[in-house]
Amino acid sequence: MYCPRCKMIVDADKCPDCHKPTRKPEMDDVCLLIEKPLPIAAMVKDVLEQNGIPSMQMGVLGAGLSTLLGSNIEYARIYTAYSDHQNALELTDELFGAPLVFDEENPDEIAEDQTQEDEPTQ
Ligand SMILES: [Zn+2]
Repeated sequence: MYCPRCKMIVDADKCPDCHKPTRKPEMDDVCLLIEKPLPIAAMVKDVLEQNGIPSMQMGVLGAGLSTLLGSNIEYARIYTAYSDHQNALELTDELFGAPLVFDEENPDEIAEDQTQEDEPTQ
């Protein structure tokens, strides 16, 4: 499911973030891919572009984090269209070597909108 307000793919009828009802994603919906420190986000955007995936970068003020770390780390969010989201995820997986969006330690939380296969889990 998709939260149009947060621009995030979530596995729930209600967004865990803003508690608004979610809906089915459409191909041109803009989805949050990653939120990373600016240099890393810029690198991801670069890789996406090299692979022909249009992306959008938005700055985030990591005020709380900056205070914690005692420095001014600027964060950026990278968004892609839902139609490119899966490809973009795979590319970022390759970049970072691990899924960035879903926590594998919480299988119950893993979104089912990525794969429609019904593999029995054991
Ligand atoms: Zn939301």
